[in-house]
Amino acid sequence: MKRIVCLLGVLLSLLSLTGCQAKEPFSITYYDCFDTAVTLTAYTDTEEEFFAFADELHQFLLSCHRLLDIYEEYPGVNNLYTINHAGGKPVTVDPFLLDFLSFGKEVYAFTGGKVNIALGSVLSLWHQKREEGLADLENASLPYEEDLLAAASHTDIDGILLNEADGTVTLLDPLLQIDAGALGKGYVSKLVQERYPDKNFLLSLGGNVITVGEKPNGEDWIIGILDPFDTESTALTLPVSGAAVTSGSYQRYYTVDGKDYPHIIDPDTLYPADIWASVTVFCADPALADALSTALFLLPLEEGKKLVQTFDGVSVYWIAPDGSYDKLGLDG
Ligand code: ADP
Ligand code: MG
Repeated sequence: MKRIVCLLGVLLSLLSLTGCQAKEPFSITYYDCFDTAVTLTAYTDTEEEFFAFADELHQFLLSCHRLLDIYEEYPGVNNLYTINHAGGKPVTVDPFLLDFLSFGKEVYAFTGGKVNIALGSVLSLWHQKREEGLADLENASLPYEEDLLAAASHTDIDGILLNEADGTVTLLDPLLQIDAGALGKGYVSKLVQERYPDKNFLLSLGGNVITVGEKPNGEDWIIGILDPFDTESTALTLPVSGAAVTSGSYQRYYTVDGKDYPHIIDPDTLYPADIWASVTVFCADPALADALSTALFLLPLEEGKKLVQTFDGVSVYWIAPDGSYDKLGLDG
């Protein structure tokens, strides 16, 4: 069954393709990774070189997608679905997953538990209601309070046991469910950055953008932050070097009794966060940018700023539901 690919998830639009340049980039979009549109824009000497690069990158993204998938299993692959359905038994996994889960624990620690990869049992209740609500708008409903509370008792991050020595993951609580949604794309983007250091490209995985190398004319790579209230247009454009990641309430949401319920859930209330319309994080490290964009979406401004200031070189653009904005570390 095909899950809904929400094209609105592509929140950073490419503006660098217009305008006169000595050399035009090649570009391709894939729709089969991470439930979102993946667009590669690269400068290569020949079209042949571009497609060789694109194919290799696509295969790499698919292999990461399969490992992080919580909805499907693949022959010969132990992925997050396998771990979530192992009934508490140890599962031997690819080192990629051990590293990813270990990063998830770090993120839990520095976000004070706001971004929790062990929140899957709660997130899946919202996911199910969202899918049902989008398929049948009239009868859209919220998860039951008692179901949310019951699910919340299976979200202890320490219940994910990583055994680096024997390469296994064990869920000490068999009802705990891992969800990679908040961190996966940024984590994979970082691996892409490291894998192709000599190429010159911009890659957009939904709202996660990374740049590697340079444009031939030496100009900056430019991205647009979508206007959360009119996703056909951009709120502003900015140069990016490294990563830019947006979390937005307009990306994935559904509506119950006239109120929108977006996809980022506050573990303290078990309900979607409603402080921000979107938060965009700029920094060199795409994995950190993705983690922070989700965390900041859940935090009031001052708490968010405090968190950001524990890192070097992170800039942020917040857009509030009333259209006002705040920023940190961005000029002008
Ligand atoms: P997107 O993946 O849409 O670009 P985010 O990076 O902000 O946006 O991640 C949102 C996804 O993260 C949700 O779809 C859900 O799978 C997961 N998620 C939602 N709330 C939390 C949370 N508090 N902690 C960890 N994961 C979360
Ligand atoms: Mg994120």
